[in-house]
Amino acid sequence: MSTLTHEKIQELIEEDCCHECEGLGGDKVCVHIEAIAELPSRFGDFHIVGFSNNRDGKEHVAIIKGEIIGAENVPVRLHSECLTGDVVGSLRCDCRDQLEAALKKIGSMEKGIVLYLRQEGRGIGLTNKIRAYSLQDAGLDTVEANLALGFRDDERDYAVAAHMLHSLKVKSIQLMTNNPKKIDQLTQHGVNVSGRIPHILPSNEHNIFYLQTKAAKSGHMIDFHGKPHLVEQSDHTIVEGMKELTESQVKALYD
Ligand SMILES: [Zn+2]
Ligand SMILES: [Zn+2]
Repeated sequence: MSTLTHEKIQELIEEDCCHECEGLGGDKVCVHIEAIAELPSRFGDFHIVGFSNNRDGKEHVAIIKGEIIGAENVPVRLHSECLTGDVVGSLRCDCRDQLEAALKKIGSMEKGIVLYLRQEGRGIGLTNKIRAYSLQDAGLDTVEANLALGFRDDERDYAVAAHMLHSLKVKSIQLMTNNPKKIDQLTQHGVNVSGRIPHILPSNEHNIFYLQTKAAKSGHMIDFHGKPHLVEQSDHTIVEGMKELTESQVKALYD
C-alpha cells in the first residue's frame, strides 16, 4: 500500500512555503501547510496535516490516508468541528456518528481525506452554540435560536476547505456527502469534484430513530421539544436501511 513518504512530505512543505495567492472566497482566505506527521488511529493509519490561514487563528487540519498528492478521484469528507458531539458524544446532533463513519470508511480505503474544519456550531463558535442550545431548551428551534443571537442559520464557508485541497495538490475528489450544495460550493472555488459518494451511517441505537420518525420524510432531526432542528454537518442524515431512498428522494430532503 502506498503512503506518504518522508521525502514527499518534505517536498510538499517546502513547495507550499513559497505559496502566495489572491485568496479564495469573500474573505480571500489563503492557507499554508505548517506541519505533517503520522497519525495511527483506531480507524486506520493516517497522516495529519496542520494548516494556518491569513484570516483567523483557527488551526484546520487534514487527516490523510494513502498517497493523495497529485491523485485523482480522492474520497473526501468535510467535517465541521463539533466539540459537544465529536468529543462528548452529545445526542443533540449526530456529528460524532458522521465523523466516525467517515474515518472508518476512509481508513479502510487505499486513499482519502477528512478535512476537519474548525467551524464549530455551523460557524457561530462554541459559546454561541451553547447559547443557542439554551434557547432551544427554552423552546425555540435551531433557526429561531441562531436568528435570536444575530446569526444567519448557517455561517459556514468552504473556501478554506477548497484551498486546503489545492495545497495538498489533489487533482480531483469524490465528495462524501448527501448534500449536493456542498459540491456546488467547492466547485465554485475551483475544486474538481468528479463524483459523489453518499455518506450513509451504520445504524445504531442513537441514530436508528431516524428510521422511525418523520426524519425519513423531512430529513430533519427532532429535538426534545418536538421542534425540528438543523443538522450541524449540513448533511441530512442517511442511515443504513434508508438506502432504498432514490437520488431524487434524497434531493427532496433539501427542499
Ligand atoms: Zn493561497
Ligand atoms: Zn454536532
